[in-house]
Amino acid sequence: MAHTLDLSVKPAAEPALINITGLTREGLVEVLVSSGAVEPRKAKMRMQQVWRWMHHYGFTSFDQMTDIAKEQRAVFAEKFTLARPEIVERQISRDGTRKYLIRMAPGIEVESVYIPDVGRSGALCVSSQVGCTLNCTFCHTGTQKLVRNLTAAEIVAQVQVVRDDLEEWPSPKEDRRLSNIVFMGMGEPLYNLDNVADAIDIISDHEGIAISRRRITVSTSGVVPELEALGSRTAAMLAISLHATNDALRNELVPLNKKYPIEQLMAGIRAYPGLSNARRVTFEYVMLKGVNDSPAEARALIRLLKGIPAKINLIPFNPWPGTQYQCSDWKTIEAFAAVLNKAGYASPIRTPRGRDILAACGQLKSESEKLRASAVRKAEREDASNGDSEDVEDGLPFAHLAAGMIS
Ligand code: SAH
Ligand code: SF4
Repeated sequence: MAHTLDLSVKPAAEPALINITGLTREGLVEVLVSSGAVEPRKAKMRMQQVWRWMHHYGFTSFDQMTDIAKEQRAVFAEKFTLARPEIVERQISRDGTRKYLIRMAPGIEVESVYIPDVGRSGALCVSSQVGCTLNCTFCHTGTQKLVRNLTAAEIVAQVQVVRDDLEEWPSPKEDRRLSNIVFMGMGEPLYNLDNVADAIDIISDHEGIAISRRRITVSTSGVVPELEALGSRTAAMLAISLHATNDALRNELVPLNKKYPIEQLMAGIRAYPGLSNARRVTFEYVMLKGVNDSPAEARALIRLLKGIPAKINLIPFNPWPGTQYQCSDWKTIEAFAAVLNKAGYASPIRTPRGRDILAACGQLKSESEKLRASAVRKAEREDASNGDSEDVEDGLPFAHLAAGMIS
């Protein structure tokens, strides 16, 4: 057989532009120099200029950076990008909750949910991973197949696109609509701590988005060995997804408990850096009917938290198609809360927000995927019948969700 050599000259692939929005100040200085865009002696000054334009003003084009010479801006534009990811889906609930499905890259879509009147004035729930490896049995995200860590840029981008949507640039000193960040979207943040920590450095920077670390909460299902690093690297507030007070039940609800059982988890929490009455741990407790919602379990919870500066968030279970669980009755939740209140815990019941748009984590993504699959099937049917198809509903289309939306 003759061997042939392919001697055709293939054009060199365009070098990918570096998205610099996920770089810390130090990282940005490094990249400005290593890319050859800026000479070392000017790197810190350039970093400060670019930083302010992109994180305080929210600019997405180097052309807008008017204190930087045109030639220099052109060099930046050749090597870097500040581009935002695309919002694939935005839903606004009757109660003002805004749910976003954001496409980071082809096939990589994550959710972020903005909830008004939470925290100081409004909280954004961000995702740290696409999907999650941990398979908590009541959580929809755990059922999604694809899993990858989000980059720091992709985490920061969630805040940026929501601030675009809320028209909150440049960073206001007062009267913000977005005042708090919670890492309670898709994924386990402590399995992606490096990127989460960089993102927190960027989001909390005073000359940028400027959301104080005390208003940033990281929620974990209990990755005990990473707790210390989370506290010392980010100084963020800690939230723990507890959901059960004994190992047998917690093993079932949060399988990671088999690796780090309750006793180890509690020891890790007690050692969390900076814990005090002013900086309490939030314990999340999802209310599952007939599973973890008895007054005896409320009393067990109080015993377990003894001596820990704690807040308790009772979360009504948000059901999803195919789940084996139901949300506890309202009366049961109130009785549970009453036991906690009597013991001195202000335990606000997190009222379900955005129920009309299925605002529980992991749900918009799968609904939207089903909708798109359904749209493809519909288009195929229309093709087959030459465009004259009935408006058949199949799967779980968005129609019933859209009914509750105000825009
Ligand atoms: N992986 C992290 C953060 C994301 S989940 C963690 O588990 O803490 C954020 C919170 O939502 C967790 O407390 C989680 O247990 C809870 N949650 C997940 N699915 C839920 C549902 N269907 N209804 C109510 N809360 C849910
Ligand atoms: Fe993952 Fe948290 Fe869902 Fe558990 S509750 S599967 S850790 S996202």
